[in-house]
Amino acid sequence: MAILGAHMSIAGGYHKAVEAAAKAGCDCVQIFTKNNSQWRGKPITDDQATIFKSASSDLQINHPISHASYLINMASPKDELRKKSMDAMAIELQRACQLGIPYVVVHPGSFTTSDESTGINAIRQSINQIHAQLPDLETQILLENTAGQGTNLGWQFEQLEQMIHGLNEPNRVGVCIDTCHAFAAGYELGNFDGYQNTIEKLDATVGLQRIKAFHINDSKKPFGSRRDRHEHIGEGEMGLEPFRNLLQDSRFRDIPMYLETPKTDDEGNDADVINLKTLRGLASTP
Ligand SMILES: [Zn+2]
Ligand SMILES: [Zn+2]
Repeated sequence: MAILGAHMSIAGGYHKAVEAAAKAGCDCVQIFTKNNSQWRGKPITDDQATIFKSASSDLQINHPISHASYLINMASPKDELRKKSMDAMAIELQRACQLGIPYVVVHPGSFTTSDESTGINAIRQSINQIHAQLPDLETQILLENTAGQGTNLGWQFEQLEQMIHGLNEPNRVGVCIDTCHAFAAGYELGNFDGYQNTIEKLDATVGLQRIKAFHINDSKKPFGSRRDRHEHIGEGEMGLEPFRNLLQDSRFRDIPMYLETPKTDDEGNDADVINLKTLRGLASTP
């Protein structure tokens, strides 16, 4: 069976995310380890980390993952912002490590006023410096594919490949694939041949062994729109087939998948419960 979960809020404590995940029927959980729209966060206490870990094991919520701040831009041509982003990313990794979280998902960055290859180069340099600064840290960076809005990098699998293959320590980096972003970037996932073709492209570029997580979201915006708006599973432009293909693909049976969809439906119901039920149904019926 698929490993399914959702992003949950840490309001009230890290363990609250675990409790919410268990309540919704998740197997796994994604969190922010601090306010995602701020640079700074209060240090995590040993007590907080202990409570988070024991809640996870008591409630059998596995594969915790964290998502880095949206402010981070490791591709920035501005030295000051790139430096700030590197420092913030290093702290994200250390915070995750403190909580026993093995991976931190980050959007690779936007080249803004420079160009694609300069941006990719800046990302490589940033990650090399972070790795050099934290030589023994077990928590790893997962670069997420993006929808390709504006100057966002990482919407083409080849770009992710270029970011990783030029690193001094490429084995310290993995990838998180977001279904909504892939669809918005123009990767076919719905019809079976198109799906296989997309997965083959992934394998030929980043390599399937580098995929450590999926973000499992439908899209409010059309195929190839390069716009990033998440929708409930089966209620957006993607429909159900992409999720059926993915959930029935034995190559990804052991890879955790996290919903990042709206928390309530139009009637105010807990939408995670509904989306998880939809996904589990697709996983088990041909
Ligand atoms: Zn995502
Ligand atoms: Zn998104």
